[in-house]
Amino acid sequence: MAKHLTLLVMLALAASMVLPRHALCEAAAITPLPVREIAPGVYAHQAPVTEMNAASGGDIANIGFIVGDDAVAVIDTGGALIIGERLKKAIEAVTSKPIRYVINTHEHPDHIFGNAAFVAPGVTFVGHRNLPREMAQRGPEYLATFRRTMGEDLIKGVKLVPPTLLVGTDKDVYLDLGHRVLDLRAWPPMHTDCDVTIFDEKTATLFTGDLVFLQHVPVIDASVLGWLKAMPALAKIPAKLAIPGHGAIGVDWPQALAAEKTYFTKLTQDLRGFLAQGADINTAAKKAAQSEAGKWQLFWVYNPRNATAGYAEIEWQ
Ligand SMILES: [Zn+2]
Repeated sequence: MAKHLTLLVMLALAASMVLPRHALCEAAAITPLPVREIAPGVYAHQAPVTEMNAASGGDIANIGFIVGDDAVAVIDTGGALIIGERLKKAIEAVTSKPIRYVINTHEHPDHIFGNAAFVAPGVTFVGHRNLPREMAQRGPEYLATFRRTMGEDLIKGVKLVPPTLLVGTDKDVYLDLGHRVLDLRAWPPMHTDCDVTIFDEKTATLFTGDLVFLQHVPVIDASVLGWLKAMPALAKIPAKLAIPGHGAIGVDWPQALAAEKTYFTKLTQDLRGFLAQGADINTAAKKAAQSEAGKWQLFWVYNPRNATAGYAEIEWQ
């Protein structure tokens, strides 16, 4: 028995000498991100509804990819380099076609921190005309903030990779992946100043980025009034299914807009009421849209910020 054990130990030692330890670790660390085929050739990862921290590892935003006859387009890359690398593994498991485009739906770290995983010859990064400016202005602060909250290990490989193919609000950009055309539209200030949607004409599937939130309370980083105003145009996109930036994926369109429309309507009504009463901004932050609290996750994290930003916006209107 002891002899057998000694033999086993020796075999294990020999095996570990053949494969360097770091190679074993890396191979084990990068597992394909789970994805679901929402429509033929359209794949998406549904991330949990939670915050960017060490525990979530940056996996909090829905991301995905679309496969054409010739090439692949990636839509958002996740909140850490490792998420981008895992998405790349998921793509490789589905197709050997080259990745030609990486589209960022907007500037937020949970959607762009995985970009560096896709930097390679022949890959073009695509985004809103304002995205390079937003990345340059806010990127360094994003890196510093999330280095603190997520830890150095998750942030050290993150690079801010700005788009070189830009989408303006005046004209859609069409990307041909081979018998498959994607319609990219840039929006005026809504969730951010640099929101882009991606519509797959072939299957009528829409990646909305953070212009649609489900379950996760919407986050307003640019303009709640702009968001409400643009909603009819957004609803007109002839999609059947949508993949929102946060929450359930593969949902009916345009019904997916209903919950956040109710929230924005209630929020702005309440804020106008507080303003008329002369209530201060702190009262507004505490009390606005409280009737919506039970409908959304992370309500108490983001609703006070939304109310504060919305109050200032309506006051200046
Ligand atoms: Zn966002």
